[in-house]
Amino acid sequence: MASIAVCPGSFDPITYGHLDIIRRGAKVFDKIYVVVLNNSAKNPLFTVGERINLIKEVTKEIPNVEVDEFSGLLVDYAKSVNATAILRGLRAVSDFEYEMQITSMNRYLNDHVETFFMMTNNQYSFLSSSIVKEAAKYNGDISKLVPTVVERELKRKFTT
Ligand code: ADP
Repeated sequence: MASIAVCPGSFDPITYGHLDIIRRGAKVFDKIYVVVLNNSAKNPLFTVGERINLIKEVTKEIPNVEVDEFSGLLVDYAKSVNATAILRGLRAVSDFEYEMQITSMNRYLNDHVETFFMMTNNQYSFLSSSIVKEAAKYNGDISKLVPTVVERELKRKFTT
């Protein structure tokens, strides 16, 4: 049986931190669905379509990665693509409490889906989409934090 994982998130926008988790995860799982949470509660900078296109662009060289969106329950999405794993990245202790809460909830909702955590690469432990947006807004150098195409789109957002 193929091991299939979903890697969910806001990806607003995708950073090298996300990409590192996706690349490493793609070596462990046969297939990874990177899925953008379509959650109207947040106030995103990029539309779901824009975020999906950016993820597709920067993962196009990884053959076992699919990009999709979802709304509703993640465990239901996982079931619909026959995934038995959820893959999340962990940066700091501050991520832990929140992750533990959603992991417990997901297990309560469907205990056939296991959540796996991957520790961030040290160089990305401070990196988040929000911090990148903040830097980009004030014209900071983000070239080492996001792929070139993402940097370009961020600049476009903040100059139009
Ligand atoms: P969410 O709103 O679900 O937290 P994010 O897009 O912020 O969505 O993050 C998606 C996933 O990527 C989460 O598991 C998060 O912990 C992980 N992640 C984000 N940034 C990094 C990073 N710099 N290093 C490792 N994992 C990260």
